[in-house]
Amino acid sequence: MIQAARNARTRFQGKFLTPRQAEALLEEPEFHIYDNPNAFLTCNHDPAKALCHPERTPRATSRVLPPAIDRCDPACANIARTDTHIDNLRSEIAELADQAASSLTPVPLKERLKQRITALQKLVDRHERTKTATIEEPKQP
Ligand code: SF4
Repeated sequence: MIQAARNARTRFQGKFLTPRQAEALLEEPEFHIYDNPNAFLTCNHDPAKALCHPERTPRATSRVLPPAIDRCDPACANIARTDTHIDNLRSEIAELADQAASSLTPVPLKERLKQRITALQKLVDRHERTKTATIEEPKQP
């Protein structure tokens, strides 16, 4: 995703694209990036690795299937997370922790909330351990 952002900036920043150029841009696999804020991630769609399509190949037509973000698999190699996703994850964790601590929350639900918090915290920890350096902002003249 970082490489795609770099390349997009190098190639297209400040440029006007004709409809044909815009179409060509949309055809480039590198730029097939889908934000999925509900799952706290970005999908860098490589159809060969997509776990949301078990067959992982285009159907009879040669058309590449878009990702099925409503069936996003957390183990997919196409997942990337930004620090913004992680900030949102932390907010979600805090909200779930408040619910789990509430005396109004039934005990079985508290347990499910704690499991969810643990799963989300693992994503945060993994991001902090493995994150890649951010891209540099262009210098202002
Ligand atoms: S499983 Fe998720 S990350 Fe992987 S291709 Fe599908 S939508 Fe994208």
